[in-house]
Parts: sequence; C-alpha cells; structure tokens
Amino acid sequence: MRVAVIGAGIIGITTAYELAVDGHEVTVFERRSAAAEETSFANAGVIAPGYVAPWATPGMPGKLIRQLFSRHAPVKLGWPLSGRELAWIWKWYQSCKLDSYLANRAQLLRLAFYSRDRLHQLSAGLQLEYDRSPGYMVLLRSEKDSQLVQPGLQLLREAGVTFNEINAEEVRRIEPALNPDTAFLGAVHLPDDGVANCRQFALLLKNEAQRLGVSFEFNTTVAHVERAQAASILIAGEAAPRRFDQIVMCAGLASAELLRPLGLKIPMVAVYGYSISAPIREPLNAPRSALMDERYKVAISRLGQRVRVAGSAEIGGSLGAKRASSIQTLYKVLHDWFPGAVQHAHLGAHVQAWKGARPMLPDGPPIIGGSGLPGLWLNLGHGSSGWALSCGSGRALADLMAGRPAEIDMAGLDIGRLG
Ligand SMILES: Cc1cc2nc3c(=O)[nH]c(=O)nc-3n(C[C@H](O)[C@H](O)[C@H](O)COP(=O)(O)OP(=O)(O)OC[C@H]3O[C@@H](n4cnc5c(N)ncnc54)[C@H](O)[C@@H]3O)c2cc1C
Repeated sequence: MRVAVIGAGIIGITTAYELAVDGHEVTVFERRSAAAEETSFANAGVIAPGYVAPWATPGMPGKLIRQLFSRHAPVKLGWPLSGRELAWIWKWYQSCKLDSYLANRAQLLRLAFYSRDRLHQLSAGLQLEYDRSPGYMVLLRSEKDSQLVQPGLQLLREAGVTFNEINAEEVRRIEPALNPDTAFLGAVHLPDDGVANCRQFALLLKNEAQRLGVSFEFNTTVAHVERAQAASILIAGEAAPRRFDQIVMCAGLASAELLRPLGLKIPMVAVYGYSISAPIREPLNAPRSALMDERYKVAISRLGQRVRVAGSAEIGGSLGAKRASSIQTLYKVLHDWFPGAVQHAHLGAHVQAWKGARPMLPDGPPIIGGSGLPGLWLNLGHGSSGWALSCGSGRALADLMAGRPAEIDMAGLDIGRLG
C-alpha cells in the first residue's frame, strides 16, 4: 500500500518505521526541517510503564484546586482559558470518576509495557546507540509524600511491576551525588525502568526507516486532508492533492485542527511543560539516571553528558510565552537534589530552556486505530507519555492497518470512546 504519514514526531517516526517493516511504501510529511522538532524534542525521557497513568484520577480536581495558587504548583492555568480548554477541563473532570480512571489506567499500562518491550527489541535488533540510563526513582520528601503514593504502589503490585520502597540511605547508595544537605524520607525505586533520549532515538529510527525505503518530505506542511477524495492530502503551496491508499494522522497537537474540517472532533488541548538541559559540570555531582520529585512533579534525568530537568503542566497560554516561575521551579528542584551538577548559562555554558506542548486528551489514553473515514487512520493524543508509548503505538497501528489483531487488547484506544 502507498501510505502517507503526517508528522515526524516520535509517533510519526515509529509508525512510519513499522509500516515500512510490513512492506508498505511510506511517505512522511513534516512541516519542520527535521524529525522530532516539536513535542518530541526535549522531553524528560522517562520510560516507566508502571507510572504511565491518566491525569484524570479520582481526587485530582480537589488536589489541583488546593495547589493552584502556590508558587511551585505543578499545574498552572494561563488566563483567559479558551472555550475549547474549558470544555476539555469539564471532560477531564468527568473522566476522574473511579471506573473511568481504572479502565483508562489499565489500558495505558498494557500499551506502556508493550511499548517498552518493542523499544528494547528495536534498540537491540537495530543496534541503536542513544543516551540512556537504567533505573528510575520517585523521591519522597516526607511521610506525607509516602502516604500519597501508596494507592499508586498498590496498583503497581497488582500489575506485577518490580519496585522497592527504600530509605534515604539506600537511595544515596544508588545516587551518590544526591545533596547531603537535603533531608528526605526515601524513594520508590524501579530498577527495570529508566530514561532515554527521545529525539536521538527518533533520528536514529528515521534513518532505519529510510533504509527500508521510507521517504521523508521535510519543510512540507499538509494544508488539509481532502474531504471529497478518500486518502488524499493537499500540501501547502501545491495546486493538486496527492493521493495515497491510506493516511495516518500523527501530527501531535495539530491533529485536532486538521481533523475538524472532516467532522472529527478530537477534544485535545496543549498542556505545556518545560525542560532545561545543561552540560554536566562534574560527573561525580550528577545524577546517574532518572528521578522524579514527587512533590513538585519534576523529573531530573541523566542524558549522556547532560542533565535534563523537566516538569510543569500549564493549560492556557501559548508555546511562545515562557513563564519564568516554571523555569525557576526546575532550577529549585535541581538545586535541592544535585547542586553543582551542571554548568550554568551565566558562566557561558550552553543551557537549553525549552517549552513543549503535550497533545493531551481529557481521559488519558491515546487514539490508535481507524478514524471511521475511509483510508484515514489515527495515532495521536499521547499526552504526557508519548515517548514511553511510541514504539507500541506504531507497531499496534501497523498491525491494525494490515488487518491483523494487534498483540495487545486495543479496547479503549479507539476514537469511538470519545463519543
Ligand atoms: C515537558 C515535557 C516532558 C515530557 N516528558 C515525557 C517523558 O518523560 N516520557 C514520555 O513518554 N513523554 C514525555 N512527554 C510527552 C511526549 O514528549 C509527547 O507525548 C510526544 O513527544 C508526542 O509525540 P507526537 O509525535 O505525537 O507529537 P510531536 O512530537 O509534536 O510531533 C508531531 C509532528 O507533526 C508535525 N506536524 C504538525 N502539523 C503538521 C502539518 N500540518 N503538516 C506536516 N507536519 C505537521 C509537527 O511539526 C511535529 O513534528 C513530555 C512532554 C513535555 C512537554
């Protein structure tokens, strides 16, 4: 089949690769000049399937309202909110009910474990070399933090995830550079999870896809998907649509706009987050792998010779407007745990401060499958865990497009669930 993939973020790249493995003739259209230049560019890189969970959880609305106005609140609202954002918040609120949460979480867990297996398979099979470190720790500052994570740990137990609750001394043995002056209770340690550079992986897999014959058209914006002719797209600046046998929408946040004229209403909003990436000053003072400060919801990751600190969730605002206080929170958390780990911009180091837009659906799981329109498939809405979910999402969609059942149960990942 001749297949067009729209978007070369991590989801478009994994999808294009898997379709090429199945022998299809694939063309990827990407408006930027390279792969993984938008949300897949500088995310935290955490691959922790047990922690891939919906943001719509019981008790979350009250918790967010209580934290909303505190200086280092993990979730912030940018006023004024648009009608679409308000509608999204309402749908998110409805998805916080226990039964929806349990179903969404179970689905995400299935996809996340499947994805991690596929990531490992691809990395080993193709001998891909990218920055990565094994192990993930959720740091608990106090007894209260520990109590708050207990329901989540019960779910990890039920899902058979390997983890250990360890005290501060044991944490310091695993991460010897942790600030000796920062007192804390302990951590949840997940030895099988870890961190890896999403963008590097995307660029490597893109090369592998090219080797299998995938053609990439960069600096090429899809203006719209044709309504009148199935599986046809119009490229901005071209007069006639291009025709394919199938199209896959992997345009991240932009997918909702592209699908709306076709009558497909996807309730997706941008949930903005930030990262700073700085060169390591002294390896002995730097983290060895990935840690999550549970109180501030900030991840600190070791990515090769750099440390990346990522977090914050903002609804409203724009990608261009960076909120200074959110970046300050990242520095605060880094300083609390690893002071002296990185070189600073004011001393001439190249420190990258980045804002990204998570393509977020209100209930949690992405949409992977047919659109209901002939020739149009969807792989979108991966929210805060698109890297962790990418390899499984690409493989599962390729299976569905081939008319084969996917290797995991895909119930709850279809567009139908959004009503
Ligand atoms: C601060 C932060 C931290 C994160 N941390 C993690 C983490 O630790 N682990 C994890 O798993 N996930 C994490 N994520 C989430 C993850 O980064 C996203 O889920 C993932 O990158 C989404 O990938 P995507 O391919 O769907 O979107 P994108 O990477 O945005 O790709 C979509 C592509 O489509 C292209 N496109 C759009 N419209 C068009 C058009 N009309 N024509 C042509 N091309 C088009 C865009 O240019 C873009 O390249 C984080 C996100 C943020 C913001």
